[in-house]
Amino acid sequence: MSSKAATHEIKFTKLFINGEFVDSISGNTFETIDPATEEVLATVAEGRAEDVDLAVKAAREAFDNGPWPRLSGEARRKIMLKFADLIDENADELATLEVIDGGKLFGPVRYFEVGISSETFRYFAGAADKIRGATLKMSSNIQAYTLREPIGVVGHIIPWNGPAYMFATKVAPALAAGCTMVIKPAETTPLTVLFFAHLSKLAGVPDGVINVVNGFGKTAGAAISSHMDIDAVTFTGSTEVGRTVMHAAAASNLKPVSLELGGKSPFIVFDDADVDKAAELALMGNLMNKGEMCVAGSRIFVQEGIYDVFVKKLEAMVKAWPMGDPFDLATRHGPQNNKQQYEKILSCIEHGKKEGATLVTGGKPIGKKGYYIEPTLFTDVTDDMTIAKEEIFGPVISVLKFKTIEEVIKRANATKYGLTSGVMTKNIDTANTVSRSIRAGAVWVNCYIALDRDAPHGGYKMSGFGREQGLEALEHYLQVKTVATPIYDSPW
Ligand code: NAD
Repeated sequence: MSSKAATHEIKFTKLFINGEFVDSISGNTFETIDPATEEVLATVAEGRAEDVDLAVKAAREAFDNGPWPRLSGEARRKIMLKFADLIDENADELATLEVIDGGKLFGPVRYFEVGISSETFRYFAGAADKIRGATLKMSSNIQAYTLREPIGVVGHIIPWNGPAYMFATKVAPALAAGCTMVIKPAETTPLTVLFFAHLSKLAGVPDGVINVVNGFGKTAGAAISSHMDIDAVTFTGSTEVGRTVMHAAAASNLKPVSLELGGKSPFIVFDDADVDKAAELALMGNLMNKGEMCVAGSRIFVQEGIYDVFVKKLEAMVKAWPMGDPFDLATRHGPQNNKQQYEKILSCIEHGKKEGATLVTGGKPIGKKGYYIEPTLFTDVTDDMTIAKEEIFGPVISVLKFKTIEEVIKRANATKYGLTSGVMTKNIDTANTVSRSIRAGAVWVNCYIALDRDAPHGGYKMSGFGREQGLEALEHYLQVKTVATPIYDSPW
């Protein structure tokens, strides 16, 4: 739908190790595809275990003997602020790469997600000189204090649905803490992360602190999670792969893991809700980023008194959701990120039809080129249907009906996931009761996707553990050391 990919110069396609762009040791490469046209965008160096080894060596040397962990917080902050400014100055380039490599839309990325990335760097830059321990009075004649020290070399394994956002979310707190790192972007979206690596060098991040190894999950990803010299791993992706990463971490050097996994979040609309607002949030919470969002409110529970009106409004909005050139600022719908994902979504839609949900609109692929799927609305969905149970990660909305608050709380919690949730009501008691009862890492009351760099984000249950964003994110990258010393002859 756009010809920009054909003319855009892609500058960085190699691995980034010890401050240099290098070929993989084997010389292997793989192709990255523009999901809007299915045409090859670039040939990228493919890293495997031996390249991960090299990257870890560089990160280890930078941690053990390099300046980064030894710099004052103030010095780290200055470099991180420079990095943030460079992100803003290169927003057009970063947004273009996100569009052509990931199937995202230029408007939301250029004017929203890139800005979130730079602000995330500023937020954690502000934390870099405020990492403190505590003074302890101990029970005997000993006093002690705690040091919060960087954990060491970190492995970051990131997914494809928001590479710029994910890069900032993981790298900024790790840098603030004084860690060094090896990053593996998803195989379908390596290009933005490589551009970030280039910016890190311009910002003055010392060589070896940030390393990027492009490659596949089973080779490069597995080499990170099982590496004996990586001190911690952060992973964002599917629950299934999260389990594999945790196994590998346990079977190697027992490195701590943080997992940001899938979701099947409930969005609960009570009879007294502002129905226009509820329909709009249901739409945004499912169709933004063509539904490729871990936080999608993909089970919309609507109370029976408002159900029909809500469905009518939502139907009109879904039908009017604008498609077109991803570089046109008015466009809201783009291609799915990759073929596998495209096929998975179409198969979920078939399940919805076969299992008896009402297909109100959408449900088909669009055009002959590109991984486009019509925005799809199902109603009369029941809890036992595949589309109500499995994470679809696509532009498919499921509406379910409920009668009482007790019933909806029970049904909302009847899932293996627990990432986020939403509740629409004007009744404060209802809002409070639901907020306390939902087993999820976030409850958004009369709003949805209220993510913010100051708000910890992460899952309950099989949506993972650990928190990203917020000062809580620093905890993955720090460890606590207690230093104790006796006090002799003190009357106190
Ligand atoms: P995925 O789990 O297939 O891949 C994620 C990353 O893991 C990729 O970089 C991949 O190469 C790597 N990987 C794959 N196999 C691996 C292995 N054996 N060892 C180590 N690494 C391996 O997930 P995906 O399809 O890329 O992303 C979609 C999933 O991610 C969805 O389930 C979504 O909910 C989840 N997600 C969660 C969040 C969150 O914040 N909780 C954010 C975005 C995406």
